[in-house]
Amino acid sequence: MTRFIGLIGYPLRHSLSPDFQQAAFDYHRLDIHYETWETPPKMLQAAMARLKQSDVIGANITLPYKEKALNFVDAVDDSIREIGAVNTIINRKGKLQAYNTDVEGFLHSLDIEAKFDPRGKRATILGAGGAARAVCFALLRRDTSLLVIVNRTIERAETLVKLGLNYVARVGKTAEIVFLPCHSSQLREAIQNSHLIVNCTTMGMRHSPGENQSPLVANWIPQNALVYDLVYNPPETTLLREAKKAGASTLSGLAMLVYQGAASFRIWTGREAPLDIMFSAAREGIAQYEAGGI
Ligand code: NAP
Repeated sequence: MTRFIGLIGYPLRHSLSPDFQQAAFDYHRLDIHYETWETPPKMLQAAMARLKQSDVIGANITLPYKEKALNFVDAVDDSIREIGAVNTIINRKGKLQAYNTDVEGFLHSLDIEAKFDPRGKRATILGAGGAARAVCFALLRRDTSLLVIVNRTIERAETLVKLGLNYVARVGKTAEIVFLPCHSSQLREAIQNSHLIVNCTTMGMRHSPGENQSPLVANWIPQNALVYDLVYNPPETTLLREAKKAGASTLSGLAMLVYQGAASFRIWTGREAPLDIMFSAAREGIAQYEAGGI
């Protein structure tokens, strides 16, 4: 019997997860179909209820539901208690268990692709949504000394600062975490003092209202920084082009996407993820977009 895994988000036209997850299931000859369930806000509850059916193994949760979807699960992995954002769900006999594999995906990509050690570094995080939560906790775990969180909606950023400070106090770390509004007069200086700048907004994402936009221009970006754009479609965003102009190092979100997906694959199947197969399917998928085929 074919079983299903759904990708729940809205919009989903930019996503590459179906390409590389299906390639991984096919490689292991598993009778699993990875489906795109584009879910407008009114349909979220129904999509989450569908996950409990016996032919469904689980789901990936993506924007804008990484926080909201937690209202519909029965159990959470330890990491989720801190982060408050989910990207992976498994259906255990009608009970939904939530995980966050974005933290692992982000850290693997920093280690393996960028060879960047966050310990003692200053980081600016652009955005305060589900992905920003995972990135902040990943960096705090790795002893980043300063996190500057920049977001359009103030309350969302303040909530993230509070979550981060609670974590730091509870585990006895010393990191400083502050919020700056998008138009703060201190923002340019904070960015120029950063070793790492991570875009966790949707700005620059293909098929989004912010397509082709960049949250920063070249003359704000320090030459010695790593600029990491979580956006993976397109692979070279306007932000990454600005960072290259500034002479900074850059990393696109594609590697994180595959590493977080590999961790989800292991949760659903209990098998090792075929990373090479997943990377080449993701690259083929992106090449099709680039060629204008989609
Ligand atoms: P989300 O929860 O919906 O958060 C979206 C964020 O973008 C919020 O901070 C939002 O600000 C900000 N934003 C949206 N439009 C904006 C605009 N025009 N100007 C300024 N800020 C804007 O989404 P998410 O799940 O965190 O995902 C964010 C991005 O990360 C997406 O592009 C997603 O594809 C990418 N991502 C990549 C990976 C990967 O593996 N590479 C993993 C996760 C996410 P407000 O709070 O003010 O609305």
